[in-house]
Amino acid sequence: MILQERGLSVTIQKLDPYINVDPGTLNPYEHGECYVTEDGAETDLDLGHYERFLGRPTSQANNVTTGRIYQFVINKERRGDYLGKTVQIIPHITDEIKRRIMLLGQKNKFDVVLTEIGGTVGDMESLPYIEAVRQIKFELGATNTLFVHLTLVPYLSATGELKTKPTQHSVKVLLENGIQPDILVLRAEKHLNRDIRKKVALFCNVDYDAVIESVDVSTIYEVPLLMQKEKLDEIAIRKLGLNDTKTPDLGPWTEVVNRLKNPEKKIQIGLVGKYVELADSYKSIMESLSHAGATYKCEVKINCIHSEDITMDSTSELLGEQDGIIVAPGFGDRGVEGKILACNYARTENIPFLGICLGMQCAVIEFARSVLGYPKAHSTEMYHKTPHPIIDLMEEQKGISEKGGTMRLGAYPCVIKEGTKVHEAYNKKFIKERHRHRYEFNNDYLKEYEKNGFIASGINPDSKLVEIMEMKDHPWFVGVQFHPEYSSTVMKPHPLFIHFVKASMDISAAKPEMQAKKV
Ligand code: GLN
Repeated sequence: MILQERGLSVTIQKLDPYINVDPGTLNPYEHGECYVTEDGAETDLDLGHYERFLGRPTSQANNVTTGRIYQFVINKERRGDYLGKTVQIIPHITDEIKRRIMLLGQKNKFDVVLTEIGGTVGDMESLPYIEAVRQIKFELGATNTLFVHLTLVPYLSATGELKTKPTQHSVKVLLENGIQPDILVLRAEKHLNRDIRKKVALFCNVDYDAVIESVDVSTIYEVPLLMQKEKLDEIAIRKLGLNDTKTPDLGPWTEVVNRLKNPEKKIQIGLVGKYVELADSYKSIMESLSHAGATYKCEVKINCIHSEDITMDSTSELLGEQDGIIVAPGFGDRGVEGKILACNYARTENIPFLGICLGMQCAVIEFARSVLGYPKAHSTEMYHKTPHPIIDLMEEQKGISEKGGTMRLGAYPCVIKEGTKVHEAYNKKFIKERHRHRYEFNNDYLKEYEKNGFIASGINPDSKLVEIMEMKDHPWFVGVQFHPEYSSTVMKPHPLFIHFVKASMDISAAKPEMQAKKV
């Protein structure tokens, strides 16, 4: 982000050493949320951070896994492309890794491609990646490549000491693999003093000023400001010979960070999901709420509520205090009845509501059961033989049996109905949003919904799929089939999150205990 502010075009890529072809088939408990790019790649959640920081879309090419590399090489081998040669990790796998790194720079002509290798130095599975980048430096030369090594400096509170041994050891392992880091970034709980920096520089063969501290901060968005203070960008451009860049202006970014750190109001949002034990499962939703909160200098406290805990008896206890309710995306029937109850509570108690993907589907099912008089209404995903398939498998999904990469993925257009709450939020008619689902709203029922005040305010112009449903007589009740959380960035918070937060602030302000809730 700092390099981008210097006028360079930058992209960030993640190399994941696991064997899955992509993280789409992974349970969120494994590595957190699955992020989706505009061009429909199911990726590691780090790509969400890359987009939130850079404010630019990433693509299929920005996430590479060992599974994808091997799949590609094995397919080539089956086609006979290796002309009878023995196919090996070196050079065939490493060449394919190199090709994927270089491709990103060549195709889009970025000035800088930042490639993050996941895992830890010394992991058996990351060895081919380390070897590939070693070769890249050899081939491109020292001024075209830069190794930044991130290490942890533990703090021993009993003796009040910061320990540099793990850093020395991991650099040693890197050296064994032929890599001399150019810059070290040291993660630490406490500031590093001159002596520690000198010691690390001497033992690790790194310039003194290239030993950078990365101390814990209250918001991840403060990190670039600290990195700039540590002159990480200056050192990087000096080493890469990119000296004629402009001075970066981090003023607007600093302003957002200040808003985040100095809130004047506070609201509580209940986030209802079934993967709540792991906060990373809903990373993009949480970040989107914080971007929107910053707009109003409002702290958004997120209360994660397990959908399996929501029963008829516990709804008001679990949801009664919330100023707004989000029902999260998800798959399968575990916890779905709790989500439906949460939708019912938000609708009947006039609490601002945002239903995302499965969350929207639950709101629609709830309405069919409570208002349209179809008590057995459901999605065919959960109840195959429901007499009222309000949510049904998309036509194009019907012949599909493979699970990986076969959902409706990526950005699709949507036309917004004027005079609706979502039109007020977006302030435009044509939008594009990212999707990740197999099921859809069953249009056979649309007329009945609209007659009863739950209207389709966004429709896909080509397929006529319902993309957005919103409640007429309600302060703010919106369900979206897409994922707005994937496209909210620090400098451009998503309009739906902004309006949802605003509606929740209004509800909070109207509550009698408002004064007591001021920060
Ligand atoms: N399981 C639902 C579907 O496939 C919703 C998916 C989601 O919430 N991302 O349509």
